[in-house]
Amino acid sequence: MEHAPREHVDVIVVGAGISGIGAGYHLQQRCPSRTYVILEGRQDIGGTWDLFRYPGVRSDSDMHTLGYNFKPWNADEAIADGPSIMAYLRETVAEHGIERHIRFGHLVERAEWSTAEARWTVHARRADTGAAVTMTCGFLFMCSGYYSYRGGYTPEFPGRERFQGQIVHPQEWPEELDDTDKEVVVIGSGATAMTLVPAMAKTARKVTMLQRSPTYVVAAPEVDVIANTLRKVLPDHLAYRVTRRKNTVMQQFFYGRTRTQPAKVKATLLKRVRKALGPDFDVDTHFTPSYNPWDERMCLVPNGDLFTAINSGKAHVVTGTIDTFTETGIELVGGDVLRADIIVTATGLQLVTLGEVEFMVDGDPVDFSQTWTYKGFMYSDVPNLASSFGYIHASWTLRADLICENVCRLLNHMTASGTVQCTPRLRPSDRTMVPRPWIDGFDPGYMRRAMHRFPKQGDREPWTNPQSYRIDQRLFLKSPVDDGVMQFTGAKVPADA
Ligand SMILES: Cc1cc2nc3c(=O)[nH]c(=O)nc-3n(C[C@H](O)[C@H](O)[C@H](O)COP(=O)(O)OP(=O)(O)OC[C@H]3O[C@@H](n4cnc5c(N)ncnc54)[C@H](O)[C@@H]3O)c2cc1C
Repeated sequence: MEHAPREHVDVIVVGAGISGIGAGYHLQQRCPSRTYVILEGRQDIGGTWDLFRYPGVRSDSDMHTLGYNFKPWNADEAIADGPSIMAYLRETVAEHGIERHIRFGHLVERAEWSTAEARWTVHARRADTGAAVTMTCGFLFMCSGYYSYRGGYTPEFPGRERFQGQIVHPQEWPEELDDTDKEVVVIGSGATAMTLVPAMAKTARKVTMLQRSPTYVVAAPEVDVIANTLRKVLPDHLAYRVTRRKNTVMQQFFYGRTRTQPAKVKATLLKRVRKALGPDFDVDTHFTPSYNPWDERMCLVPNGDLFTAINSGKAHVVTGTIDTFTETGIELVGGDVLRADIIVTATGLQLVTLGEVEFMVDGDPVDFSQTWTYKGFMYSDVPNLASSFGYIHASWTLRADLICENVCRLLNHMTASGTVQCTPRLRPSDRTMVPRPWIDGFDPGYMRRAMHRFPKQGDREPWTNPQSYRIDQRLFLKSPVDDGVMQFTGAKVPADA
């Protein structure tokens, strides 16, 4: 039986969320002679911002840094809701003709690298027909996010089957869910719970945030007055650049203070919470974490909306451990009972590596936990594969943009040097490196559950994942592409053979 020739492009990007759309833009701008396709498993762009539909879904970092470096964020609100972010992404795709490169409903399942052919063979499955689609590419760029699209994380709750009301996970929000006059318990105290509680308190009779332990909560204005003033006096691009710079400097300054003066930062944050909630609120129990600021994630609440909801008497915080679900709610260890019509399990995401795709290099399966990370975007001994991953302590897109620029530098270097393969390989002196986790010094449960599957970090550049915008700017934009670690090689077999 004759096989149709497989479609080949220079670059396959997997995922059409913020990262994949950014990748499309940067490839077009910086590598215009390279062909590319974006394979997206879902039927729309946006990734996170299309998937999450719960009430009030919004960014919890400012859009001047969550936006792209090439497209100003011009809305008045610096903290944006899901639909506004989707509109921004749709505009980006339309402005730069990126949509024609996207194949929707193509879930990538397997990718096989052949050194002899210097190409990846990428196997995808069509969502509509279930048919297998196979393509090849010279470079594979995973922009598939960091969590599973198959479902969120929900711990085993004893007695779950007894509950007679509705149980909902924010990752699979039912469009028709009506919480009017209902009693709701939201389990969790991450960004999603903090968003849901004030949003649902507008319609529900009572909303209780049930947390096992507290999180740092920081109120910030939804509107950035300086950004909006700058937009009135400067051209959009310039105003955006200045605001972006201001915000990255501020974020780095604040993060730096949490490292050097954690006690002082902690005291300041808690003082603000006390002021917002008044002297009678038990801030020690409900808003004072046992860890230092930014050792785990911190939550930003725009205009202090969570505090407003609590002060209105419609939102409540309970700190305790679940003993069992009952027919009518939740019983805590110690005997307290929370009545509920709806229980929302805002218990998090399931972290995954590289879009849950299976990778092979020259016939051998790749175990990413055995690889070393190269600058936090490539993997030792895995050729022509990059992945996008943002910041933990700052906006995702700051880093996604930098990674795209480094990918383009690599592609252009290969064009200029007549090479086809780039592989980060340990130098003999690197073989004694002491491994560190992929992300250092940040230890919430969802990271702890998954870190063993991620690559290792070394103790020297470029085998590090510094999670610092300042250092990454140097690593991604300025340090030589041909750095003695990245090995550039030619084709083993002539391309037309
Ligand atoms: C509720 C929520 C709020 C957040 N708020 C912020 C915030 O305020 N600031 C911030 O910096 N970050 C935030 N984040 C992190 C957020 O995920 C990033 O900001 C950003 O949206 C990630 O973009 P991405 O394109 O890299 O990944 P995603 O948005 O996850 O998109 C990945 C895309 O890849 C596709 N894909 C995955 N696997 C495959 C495959 N095998 N084959 C084909 N397609 C595949 C998916 O369908 C998806 O479309 C938030 C995350 C969540 C869940």
